Amino acid sequence: MNVLSAANSGSSQMMTITVQDFSGSPFPAAVTRRFVVPFEQLQSTYGRLMRSGAKILEVSNGSASGPTPAGSSTGGSAPTQVQPTTTVKTPRKKAAHADVPVNTYKPKNPFTGKVISNESLLKEGAIGRVNHITMDLSGGDLRYVEGQSIGIIPDGLADNGKPHKIRLYSIASTRHGDNLVGNTVSLCVRQLQYEKDGELINGVCSTYLCDIEPGAPVKITGPVGKEMLLPEDEEANVIMLATGTGIAPMRAYLRRMFDPGERTKNQGYGFRGKAWLFMGVPTTPNLLYEEEFQSYLSAYPEHFRYTKAISREQKNKEGGRMYIQHRVAECADEIFELISMESTHLYMCGLRGMEPGIDEAMTAAAADRGLDWKTLRPQLKKAGRWHVETY
Ligand code: NAP
Repeated sequence: MNVLSAANSGSSQMMTITVQDFSGSPFPAAVTRRFVVPFEQLQSTYGRLMRSGAKILEVSNGSASGPTPAGSSTGGSAPTQVQPTTTVKTPRKKAAHADVPVNTYKPKNPFTGKVISNESLLKEGAIGRVNHITMDLSGGDLRYVEGQSIGIIPDGLADNGKPHKIRLYSIASTRHGDNLVGNTVSLCVRQLQYEKDGELINGVCSTYLCDIEPGAPVKITGPVGKEMLLPEDEEANVIMLATGTGIAPMRAYLRRMFDPGERTKNQGYGFRGKAWLFMGVPTTPNLLYEEEFQSYLSAYPEHFRYTKAISREQKNKEGGRMYIQHRVAECADEIFELISMESTHLYMCGLRGMEPGIDEAMTAAAADRGLDWKTLRPQLKKAGRWHVETY
């Protein structure tokens, strides 16, 4: 097919290429995809698709061939084949993230920030202690992006007489910080408490942070991590699975996507995809950043979806505690439809214990479609679309 002959006009024309059996897809079932590209990119996109082994079905003028809206529900019974339709301006390239800062401050030479605020995130009746702590980074070079972590070195000495080791915490703020000035970083910290030999033990660093007063100096290292970075694609779909304080990076993503101040600051990034948050907490008063999420739901109902698993108030279908993997199982059709699109990324953060449950839910959903999750998951990972940070 002569690609250029399929078009009849100049540079602002949008073109649609419809392909089947795109080999870049992790889904072996027959897949039809549409790529809507500006006319100028038609030749290169066509060539790339051909080289990838895709079967070109059609090249047509315009972009009105009716893509399935991302995140639309398939509702009822599971189909035997996945037949998603993808619309992306250009086929997604794996982001290099080469310019993302790492290890600006190393443990031997930490930056000393100053606590600005330290506030509880919990409501009356919640279990435990979870605080939002904001620190001033003024005077240093610590820059970070959403999805990274920083290290904290607690004051004092460990039992062996040496300084405490660093503990890593996922950053809960965007690169602009909560004040949008770009000189702060925020964390979401739960005080770790456990019993040992009948004695209540408080986690060293989490207690240090939950107790720290505004004005106090705090030793900070990093930033570190590139596993949980958001794609640059403004039309990406982002599925987020968080338990407890694992919400930290997701809170940053969602602010970047939907906070009015962030959207003004973010020249060149105006999120237009689907964001779907699954949040697991023990009780309703333990929900974190609930007001922020509710405001995004009101302002962007077409772009933000929020599904809660409140383990000690809701029951799963076996009558046990409702965990996010049970919600994932309930929504498996829609999740599968989304992740079969190349523009979809999934992020998981929080308790490591949720991973087997999520795998189990995805295994069952894949099996319903005659697919093998054990094969699919590594492919999604390799494609840079399956992001996991669990402790
Ligand atoms: P939490 O409040 O204790 O628990 C959150 C929810 O997860 C609760 O509803 C809990 O249910 C549920 N849960 C327990 N076991 C589960 C399982 N096997 N599968 C799915 N859900 C399960 O959470 P948290 O204390 O904030 O802890 C979050 C964890 O994430 C910590 O281990 C923390 O270190 C880690 N974390 C990791 C990162 C990271 O990797 N970057 C960042 C932040 C936090 P029940 O208690 O009712 O059973």
